[in-house]
Amino acid sequence: MKIPSEVKVGPYTYKVSIVDIVDKNNPEYIGTVQHDYDKEIRLRNDLDRDKMESVFLHELIHCIDTIFRIGLTEEQVNQLEAGLYMVLEQNDFLRED
Ligand SMILES: [Zn+2]
Repeated sequence: MKIPSEVKVGPYTYKVSIVDIVDKNNPEYIGTVQHDYDKEIRLRNDLDRDKMESVFLHELIHCIDTIFRIGLTEEQVNQLEAGLYMVLEQNDFLRED
């Protein structure tokens, strides 16, 4: 999967940044998403490719959850991340050729 510099989610466009620290208050975080005026997904730059793709999907699920007001728990987002990544990977949808 190509991690884009911007991603559209419905009517919104989220900037995608790959950075040293995604949340200075929580330096252990590997991804975050901000849904306010400055919509942005931040991914930590030391993740390997598989993990970065998976965390990117995780943050996209948070975006969808917010836009559709689904009310997913963090645990449900984690499970959807794992399931979606599994299917995309198993069917070679993540290949970049
Ligand atoms: Zn999350």
